[in-house]
Amino acid sequence: MTQRVTVSATGEVNGDLDTVARNLAEARHAVAFTGAGISVESGIPDFRSPGGLWTVFNPMEYATYSCFVRSPEKSWDLFRAIGETLLDAKPNPAHHALARLEERGGLAGIVTQNIDGLHQAAGSRKVLEIHGNHDDLHCPRCGHVEPMLRSHLEPGPVPECPACEGALKPTVVLFEEPVRDLDSIQDTLAPCDLLIAIGTSSEVAPASLFPAQVGARGGRVIEINLEPTALTMNLDAWDGALLEGPASVTVPLVVERALGAAEGERS
Ligand code: NAD
Repeated sequence: MTQRVTVSATGEVNGDLDTVARNLAEARHAVAFTGAGISVESGIPDFRSPGGLWTVFNPMEYATYSCFVRSPEKSWDLFRAIGETLLDAKPNPAHHALARLEERGGLAGIVTQNIDGLHQAAGSRKVLEIHGNHDDLHCPRCGHVEPMLRSHLEPGPVPECPACEGALKPTVVLFEEPVRDLDSIQDTLAPCDLLIAIGTSSEVAPASLFPAQVGARGGRVIEINLEPTALTMNLDAWDGALLEGPASVTVPLVVERALGAAEGERS
């Protein structure tokens, strides 16, 4: 049966967190799979929660590649609405805990749907960004690339390619565009015996299929979220656990206990 553990904002634990931590400590190839929820406590709103970005910008209106081609100024309304927040955000304790776990040899890598660069800012080294990132601007017409600057986010005309005058687009993956790094992601997931899915509603394919892939090969799936998601009902089949609580408190708690358990086994 799926283990259920709740963690309050102040770190009170209800349930058997030690078993989950031991599972993490004993994994040979643990991978973290992260979504917008891990960065909410860094001040970046997610998409689907109440008050999230999707309640203001309809994704099929603003975040599709065809919208960008048809009316880049409309897509830039969305890029500008979130851009400053992305530039100013700092990693929170959940990002730092994953970096620490990798450094201590307990995490083989991170597959993230996020475009905010906060895992790298926290010191994580093996980060695969399936939906790209917000570091650069790219010209879909001629391939020119230049860094994203704060000035690009100020109100005004759509940033233009200096080479061909086409509309520039952040190097994020919009709906209808191919995702990034799929081969490397599959190489990382193939030996994965434990996947920690953190702060994702698991509704955007193909990323939403990764937990099922790991589970189908006999891997364990641990979910960390504020609430049950589309993933939760399958956790039983994947020998999994739901840790219900804010990522910035729950991730450090389980990571520190896993590192403590690993240390205890060595001594
Ligand atoms: P989502 O918005 O669909 O789901 C976010 C999930 O995180 C929800 O299930 C919510 O319950 C959970 N959550 C919210 N706050 C949390 C917290 N403090 N602790 C733990 N869980 C929390 O996000 P998604 O599944 O990542 O998919 C949406 C797409 O949006 C992604 O592809 C991503 O590229 C993009 N996005 C990225 C960012 C970012 O880079 N930070 C922000 C918004 C959207």
